[in-house]
Amino acid sequence: MIIIMLGAPASGKGSVAELLSKEFNIPAISSGDIFRKNIQEKTELGLEAQKYMKDGKLVPDDITVSMIKERLEEKDTQNGMILDGFPRTNAQAKALDEMLEKDGKKIDIVVNLETPEAEILERISNRRICTNTDCKAIYNLVLAPSKVPGICDKCGSKLYQREDDKVESAKHRLEVYKKETAPVAKYYAKTGALFSTVLSQSVNRMKEEVARDVIEYLKEEK
Ligand code: AMP
Repeated sequence: MIIIMLGAPASGKGSVAELLSKEFNIPAISSGDIFRKNIQEKTELGLEAQKYMKDGKLVPDDITVSMIKERLEEKDTQNGMILDGFPRTNAQAKALDEMLEKDGKKIDIVVNLETPEAEILERISNRRICTNTDCKAIYNLVLAPSKVPGICDKCGSKLYQREDDKVESAKHRLEVYKKETAPVAKYYAKTGALFSTVLSQSVNRMKEEVARDVIEYLKEEK
């Protein structure tokens, strides 16, 4: 089972991916998380990625594609995976198709999360994340706050706000999304794997409902 999560920053990709990962027992692979781990560990890849990420820019395609290629060679992806945050450009989508084709694999579904633009910046600025990289739980100060402010419910570690979730960087990420990533949905619409759905507080659609719809869709497709 290969699932791709598309959507604007903080649209809920990571949260839905976690639910689908449990349902299908396949890893959720977040390109952003891999970059952040490398930044924390000060690897060569991390130092390079940081130059772009701090301003909300995309890491160049060649660096990102080779990082994902390496990750896809790991054993835990044998039975499938959920890609969260990759691909983010048409060039990355093409590179992924080539990688999968070589292994005789294909994408089962591309879940495109649509969230009203006005809600996106609010979601980004209210997002808080667990500092424990093995936990990475995601909270929202308004929509999904932790029980104790600033502390993760799951593991008790401190929560933090991502540097690129701060306002200037967040605005830039939204522009990059519109210009570079939104067209990727059109790329997948041509292959017929696209499943667009709304995840929005304003229309009262929650991550659990979206995950349920995706699971239903995949059952019907079988
Ligand atoms: P995310 O955690 O998915 O919001 O990603 C955080 C940041 O990591 C992005 O704003 C980019 O700077 C970088 N990044 C993550 N995935 C990609 C990708 N597929 N292509 C280029 N840059 C990426």
